[in-house]
Amino acid sequence: MIELKKKSKPQLLIDNGDAWTADLMTEFYQTNTISKTKQNRYSRTEIKEVLVEETNGKCAYCESKVTHIYPGDIEHIIPKSKFPRLTFTWNNLTFGCYWCNNKKRNFLDRANMMLNPYKDKTNEHIRAFGPIICHINSSQRGEITWRVLELNRPDLRDKRQKKIEELQVLIDKYNLTTNPTFKGLIEVEILDFIERTDYSFSLKQYFEDNKNAA
Ligand SMILES: [Zn+2]
Repeated sequence: MIELKKKSKPQLLIDNGDAWTADLMTEFYQTNTISKTKQNRYSRTEIKEVLVEETNGKCAYCESKVTHIYPGDIEHIIPKSKFPRLTFTWNNLTFGCYWCNNKKRNFLDRANMMLNPYKDKTNEHIRAFGPIICHINSSQRGEITWRVLELNRPDLRDKRQKKIEELQVLIDKYNLTTNPTFKGLIEVEILDFIERTDYSFSLKQYFEDNKNAA
């Protein structure tokens, strides 16, 4: 789970967020239910586009590239079912894959909040060991995060491993190069690869652990 930076709130939310929230909360207080029509007002292309951009088209949790075969959608960091007031709160919205969304569902442990990629220094709580993600520093929040999201589910481990193998080719090239200019250029290529591909968190750590290992 790589750290993310929030982009500016879309105009649609600036213009309507407060009114949508008031409308939804009025209904909730009066009837103790929320109609889907009122709840799903966040589900708009203008909002989704910005979330896709700020997550580089990857699931904010497992960092899989979201495609038509690996679908993704707008995701509420703090579940809207537990906190309906946060349904249209920009800082509570992100982009997540179908599988993480399904694992997370309405999970909320107020004593040990799951890591928030926009707010937490994720690498102080979890660490990548090759294709595996594990908590560090006895972090309960880190442990809850990887366990609830099942960040070591077999398909993710396999896909991370494949990316690590691709990265290894570049790292070998980097480690064998002695010319500082070429080394610098290969490093730029590696960092670019890490940033734009899936599983940047694991790949970044793998590069740290294996550069100049020879
Ligand atoms: Zn995911």
